[in-house]
Amino acid sequence: MPRGNQKKEPHKNNRRKRYKKRHFLMQKLARGRIEELIEFAKQTHSEDPKLANRYVTIARNIAMGTKVAIPASLKRYICHNCKELLVPGKNMRFRINNKKNYGTYVSITCLSCGHITRYIIKGRAKRDKEVKNDEQSKNAYNSN
Ligand SMILES: [Zn+2]
Repeated sequence: MPRGNQKKEPHKNNRRKRYKKRHFLMQKLARGRIEELIEFAKQTHSEDPKLANRYVTIARNIAMGTKVAIPASLKRYICHNCKELLVPGKNMRFRINNKKNYGTYVSITCLSCGHITRYIIKGRAKRDKEVKNDEQSKNAYNSN
């Protein structure tokens, strides 16, 4: 290595480390805030649905700005189409269905815009990868 590079690199590494530290801290804060905001939204939806939807938009903006993924368990409470909070029994219909060659899935319909989202729980046995996953899940069930 030439001498010039040796002088330059440590400086760069330090900068990168500082950036990483700050970035991780920011993501940690963002994760906590997203969870809090969606919980607030759930609590306030019965009294003030507009405020609840405002909380959801703020949480989504934080997630997009910091590149933090909204956890899957909370993501299911947000409509894919109109981005509103979904409350079972009020704003959302929740069904479990079963189809051949597709597997069992949960369908969630948003009653304000009519959009349907489907989450596969178990199935698609035709593909090799998912067969392996199925076997793993079966073993997990047996052990439990
Ligand atoms: Zn919707």
